[in-house]
Amino acid sequence: MTIQHHPFGPSRLGQRAACPGSYSFTLGDEDETNADSEEGSTLHAYVAHGVEGTTPEEGELPPLDLEQEERVEECVEFFLGITREARGQIGKHTELTMALDTSEGTWAPYGTCDLVVIHKESRTAWVVDWKFGRNELAEDSAALQMAGYAALVLQRCEVNTVHVRIYQPRLGRTYQATHLEGEPIIERIEGIRDAALADGAPRVPSADACRYCSGATRCPELTAQSMAVAVNTDRLPTHPDAVDEMYDKVQAAKKFLAKLEAELKDRIREGLSNNWTTQEKGGKRKIANPAGLYRALHETVPLDEFIALGSWPMEKVRKLSGLKAKAFNEVLEPFVKKGDDYTAIVRKRKEVEDV
Ligand code: SF4
Repeated sequence: MTIQHHPFGPSRLGQRAACPGSYSFTLGDEDETNADSEEGSTLHAYVAHGVEGTTPEEGELPPLDLEQEERVEECVEFFLGITREARGQIGKHTELTMALDTSEGTWAPYGTCDLVVIHKESRTAWVVDWKFGRNELAEDSAALQMAGYAALVLQRCEVNTVHVRIYQPRLGRTYQATHLEGEPIIERIEGIRDAALADGAPRVPSADACRYCSGATRCPELTAQSMAVAVNTDRLPTHPDAVDEMYDKVQAAKKFLAKLEAELKDRIREGLSNNWTTQEKGGKRKIANPAGLYRALHETVPLDEFIALGSWPMEKVRKLSGLKAKAFNEVLEPFVKKGDDYTAIVRKRKEVEDV
């Protein structure tokens, strides 16, 4: 499924602000889909059902594996947390598409909010965006995206306070901010649009801007930067600013190469290769019912060794057991082996203020 987003819609603002030239360079391109975006659409649809208290029709959506089910449940839990925070009667809307009124007229349809919860009495709204990827958020882009949604909701939903949240269940992280005024946000959006429409708007490669750019494999600036960073590895920087700059360039180059590889694979699928071809393979088998499998094997397979084979969603097992966290951890202790510690690279968190 291809969803065409508004060229200055909330999810595009970060890219347009970082790379104004991306607008004219990718004009007319279709939004790209891949396995991750399709999985994201499916999970969003399940969460919308969970929030609405409905179940998908037979065949409406692909089935989920255990991990995906757990992520969906966590999103629905997150929604329930907001309803508790709202304290009282609320209105809820999933996949709410709205138009933005700007100084030059209405941009319709401008943006779609995954979830909007409205507490009429206090004229307060919560806007939630679910992100199922495993990537760290680029905070400037995230702040702009959620500010864009806040501006919409402040204009359209008769509220004067909007709490925005991005929930990333696979990282267990939440981004949050509060917006009270839509006008400054709309001025900022118009500024980003004007810079993008200006003659000679520059193309400025960066990991965050290029990550989702449909023009990445044909962009001269990204190509040049990727080549330059690759031939400079004998002069690695020593100053922290230069390390940060080069690290960002390497992230952008990785996106460039990944997109190039994906496009070459398309050529190979079309038969345009001497050395490479395609082969159909069956999907990976997954154990949908571990308890049933254990019951079938328990005479020959010790429980601790069976458990050691799997990656069990802990929160789901705890809920199944009906135990509180402390009691559950005591039961778990003999069966759990912690993975090796490792050092992850994460973004430094910034203080978030109204845009
Ligand atoms: S690939 Fe990067 S630098 Fe080139 S247009 Fe797209 S966002 Fe801009």
